[in-house]
Amino acid sequence: MVLTIKPDVTIQEFDSSDAAFSYIIGYNERHWKVNRIVYLIFGYIRNGSGVDSIPEKLEQENNIVISDEKLQFIINEVFVKNGLLVGTEVQTEKRKDKGMWLRITVLPQKAVEKFAFMKAMFAKRIFAVCGIATALFILFFNFRYINDRSMTALTHAQLNEWVQVLLFMMISSIVHELGHASALMYGGESPGRVGAGFYMIMPVFFADVHNGWKLPRGKRVVVDLGGVYFQGMFLILCWAVNELFLHTVVIEYCVVFSCIQMIGNFNPFLKMDGYWILSDSLGISNLYDTIWDITAGKLFRRTPSHQIPFRIALILYVYIALVLVFITHYSVNYFRLAAVSAKTAWGHLCILAEGGISASDITAQSVFNYVSEYFTVWLVCIFTVILSFRLIRIAFNKLRCKGAV
Ligand SMILES: [Zn+2]
Repeated sequence: MVLTIKPDVTIQEFDSSDAAFSYIIGYNERHWKVNRIVYLIFGYIRNGSGVDSIPEKLEQENNIVISDEKLQFIINEVFVKNGLLVGTEVQTEKRKDKGMWLRITVLPQKAVEKFAFMKAMFAKRIFAVCGIATALFILFFNFRYINDRSMTALTHAQLNEWVQVLLFMMISSIVHELGHASALMYGGESPGRVGAGFYMIMPVFFADVHNGWKLPRGKRVVVDLGGVYFQGMFLILCWAVNELFLHTVVIEYCVVFSCIQMIGNFNPFLKMDGYWILSDSLGISNLYDTIWDITAGKLFRRTPSHQIPFRIALILYVYIALVLVFITHYSVNYFRLAAVSAKTAWGHLCILAEGGISASDITAQSVFNYVSEYFTVWLVCIFTVILSFRLIRIAFNKLRCKGAV
């Protein structure tokens, strides 16, 4: 029996730190990581070898013994179920990131391709100089503006200011995503769409960079960094224009929030930029499992199931330590903001409970004025409650998994 692989199915080596070679099969915007045996079988099928002759060829040419049943199993699971053979249709579900929901397209692929001219920003020297300058600015900005005082000042931000901040953050996020897409185009691959959705409770933008898997590790890291690189430069520009000409506090809020959101991307515990930067630079494909595994191994004196080289574990820990410093920096400021907000909200509830406000005082105008003035206070309170529930649920699930081991 001779099988035929569809002409647009591709296979290539996957650049990773795995001791064993791995490969990536690509078809119809989907990718599957496979081992060497599947790679060899793929080659035999593509060269027109009959299925019956494959076990013999594997043994003679590669010293691999495989039973007919095992071969049939691989052909069925990899080639038939994923619709890679002529005459077969895909039967498997595209794996979706469970944390993401309500995805919509903001810029279709054709529109994203129009930004190909921006890939010049990834030419080695430009990338090095602008990249370092951007990183230094972000550090300066963080410690200069994101502090106790600015957080408390935020509780006085009004509804209309928040609308402006939100619009600004949307534009800044689209610039971020175009950074990923441009880096991909610099690597010679075509980008996908730019979209928006929710990650857990946060509205987020995303760029479809599925072709990034085809790039070598170094270029994949550049694609991962591309977003923060573009967004950082955009923020520097906005901050400079505001400092020199406009002097408005709203733009300062805009840059502060975009900066917080941008640095949040480096959190390696969520599947955001930091996660992919670490994965691609260290060549580990299941990073989250690895981090949890080696950390739980140390904490609970469990034998980790992932054996990673000491050098890689060291980089992992240094990165996590740096991220924890930033998380602490933000958390302390956030808790201060939450405390001020909770105190204000509690004071208002007490006035209401004591009958300090009569029904005749409540008009559409007074409600609007109240919402506009204390929008931040209630936003922070509601966000804190939702976040607390989510954290408790995650912790509960983790502990339950631990109990099941
Ligand atoms: Zn990103």
